[in-house]
Amino acid sequence: MSHIGAVEPEQPQSLYADHKKVYPRAVSGRVRRVKWAVLILLLGLYYIVPWLRWDRGPGAPDQAVLVDMSHARLFFFWIELWPQEVYFLTGILVLAAIGLFAATSLFGRVWCGFTCPQTVWTDLFMWVERQIEGDRNARMKLDAQPMSGHKLMLKSAKHAAWLLIAAVTGGAWIMYFVDAPTFVRGVFTGAASLQAYFFFGLFTVTTYTLAGFAREQVCTYMCPWPRFQGAMLDDQSYVVSYRAWRGEPRGKAKADNVGDCVDCGACVHVCPTGIDIRDGQQLECIGCGLCVDACNDVMRKLHRPEGLIAFETLANIAASTAATQSMPACAERLEVGMKVRHVPKLIRSRTILYSAVLGVVAAIMLGAFLLRETVGLSVIRDRAPLFVRLSDGGIRNAYTIKMSNKAREVAHYALVLEGANTARLQVVAQNAQTDAQGRPVLETRPDGITEWRVLVTAPAGLALPQSIPVSFRLLDAAGRPVARHDSVFLGPER
Ligand code: SF4
Ligand code: SF4
Repeated sequence: MSHIGAVEPEQPQSLYADHKKVYPRAVSGRVRRVKWAVLILLLGLYYIVPWLRWDRGPGAPDQAVLVDMSHARLFFFWIELWPQEVYFLTGILVLAAIGLFAATSLFGRVWCGFTCPQTVWTDLFMWVERQIEGDRNARMKLDAQPMSGHKLMLKSAKHAAWLLIAAVTGGAWIMYFVDAPTFVRGVFTGAASLQAYFFFGLFTVTTYTLAGFAREQVCTYMCPWPRFQGAMLDDQSYVVSYRAWRGEPRGKAKADNVGDCVDCGACVHVCPTGIDIRDGQQLECIGCGLCVDACNDVMRKLHRPEGLIAFETLANIAASTAATQSMPACAERLEVGMKVRHVPKLIRSRTILYSAVLGVVAAIMLGAFLLRETVGLSVIRDRAPLFVRLSDGGIRNAYTIKMSNKAREVAHYALVLEGANTARLQVVAQNAQTDAQGRPVLETRPDGITEWRVLVTAPAGLALPQSIPVSFRLLDAAGRPVARHDSVFLGPER
């Protein structure tokens, strides 16, 4: 019961906003055509690449691109990376990140709007949805209807198609880690491993959920990128912008003293995130540019110049706004506003910085790749015992030598010891070979690591220091050193 004059307690404002389903309308135009082209190219590459073959010789996988987890190798056409070369992957990730920073500072959210997997698959799922349930109005009407046979059929067909795409997508991802034809055969015959089925199912469900249901919410709530990309943008970056100086005040096409925006809502209806670009720059805007196409279409129909919504820099928007703020809505206003625009500065401090870092990292990686050795040597000295005193008074140290051969052919290298010239080097192996100069010759197995036991013996009667630095070297047939590893030779305390 309330009393006259009593003050009702104020209800706290809810911070939670209900999710409103977005029904983007189909649109055609230049930007849409570019988006289709990018989508076809990226999806084509993603689905086809695991099926490309590359002959690496007997015993080696013939899949051109393969992350071979069981043998700890990464194959990329003619390149084969070993686990210790993972820094190349790190370098590629660093290059990709800096490239993304540079692209963002020049062209805004071009990654989000055109190439991000979430955008690409959501676009594909929306296209399928449109083919089955119709465009925006038909889908809204269908969702508002009670369940019927017709609705059930359309919904089932849509979800079946989505699941099929999701399964092909999830399966393609697995094929980057296992042989593609073997995996597909295994899935259909039940011979695939439990692990393969698990990840196949996981990526299928993930694709179905993210592209079918979560859609723009991934970009708005889950993805961290929109939150810190602002640090890469400045007023010279191209972003999708509404030219309010030209569009306002909004009004009917035939009304007097109004701007070019006829408030038709076309830009809002095509937006995959359901926002109104006329409200200014927003976190939710992924920069897809579909509102540009929608508005250009409206402008063409009204016989007005295109570009009311455009990829434009904030500096130009500010310049046009300042130049036209005291002008009424008229054709001269458009002329004046467009005339004060400047070509954006592509070369500015942040783009110079990104380009410099890109160049340095790329040069380092290229240098490391060109100088990459196909043979590696590691030496581990026995620690128990540190040394052995022989019956004749000599001192012996034992070592384990590991030779890695990244080539696909057997290779032979002479092993030499430097630093303890009077010591004798002996390889413990039944089939130990020596070259013409009596040096031990080690045979490597192709694409693998070969291990050898090596004894170094200092003859009796030498006044050796307790520790002598030594280095093991591998020489090729021409006597050129190809690998080296430093170690020590230990003797008794003096
Ligand atoms: S599409 Fe263009 S004219 Fe229509 S509401 Fe959007 S900005 Fe205004
Ligand atoms: S506002 Fe325009 S550019 Fe931004 S997400 Fe919506 S349609 Fe794409």
